[in-house]
Amino acid sequence: MRLMRIGAPGNEIPVVEHGGAHHDLRPVAADIDGAFWDGGPDRVRAALAAGSLPLIDIAGRRVAAPIARPGAVICIGLNYVAHVAESGAQPPEHPVVFLKRPNTVGGPDDDVEIPEESVKTDWEVELGVVIGATAAYLDSPQEALTRVAGFVLVDDLSERTYQLEISGGQWSKGKSLRGFTPTGPVLVTPDELDHRDLRLRSLVNGQARQDSSTRDMIFGVGELIHDLSQYMEQEPGDLVITGTPEGVALSGRFPYLADGDTVEVEIQGLGRQRHRIVRRAGRGAEV
Ligand code: ZN
Repeated sequence: MRLMRIGAPGNEIPVVEHGGAHHDLRPVAADIDGAFWDGGPDRVRAALAAGSLPLIDIAGRRVAAPIARPGAVICIGLNYVAHVAESGAQPPEHPVVFLKRPNTVGGPDDDVEIPEESVKTDWEVELGVVIGATAAYLDSPQEALTRVAGFVLVDDLSERTYQLEISGGQWSKGKSLRGFTPTGPVLVTPDELDHRDLRLRSLVNGQARQDSSTRDMIFGVGELIHDLSQYMEQEPGDLVITGTPEGVALSGRFPYLADGDTVEVEIQGLGRQRHRIVRRAGRGAEV
């Protein structure tokens, strides 16, 4: 099942992509939020089989994040060996966890505003995991995979000065700026996507940056959800992002993002994002 949300911020319509067409999900789902995962996919399948969902034309309309109001955005750091090396760190013995504010989640192609004084905004293509059932004190990575509702493409944008230089060792300052978690365009359920070997890429102004595979993760999806469940309860609708591969600006190999730059990220089977970086106007420019 491939789920999307279409429309202006605050007025998104839940949609399912099926047989090359898009269907309006509002007859069976208010939105694709935490509550949806309690029986929602079965209602969608039944409605598709019955032919009861109206078609919807999404051409020219804003593509929103395919999930609404996640209760948490839980992030894994340093989960690809080559990225650990380019960050000047050591491979972790246990997953490195930090949090982003849920209100950072935006549409895949929305402009992203960076602070007026930002000089170190960086891109991070990541496989996102949407939680479909409560995950707490799980027994195994295999059990953890039964809690996965689906997968999404995420750009974990990061302001490195805030994250690393004025952070006191806590990363959230550099991760929680407005719009810093472009998500989507589509959520794909696990029955339609093998997440273990997917190509991930990023480009800036059309030039290649990251190009790796999810098979290079240090801790796999099941291991991550299992490990997290020992420390926090993951709820339906939560988003877990699983770390980024090498090829970010932090490596020193590429310039950081500037006003007017275009970032593209993509994951095999999960589509592509294209967002423009826009520097926030200074206070002097506000009327
Ligand atoms: Zn990240």
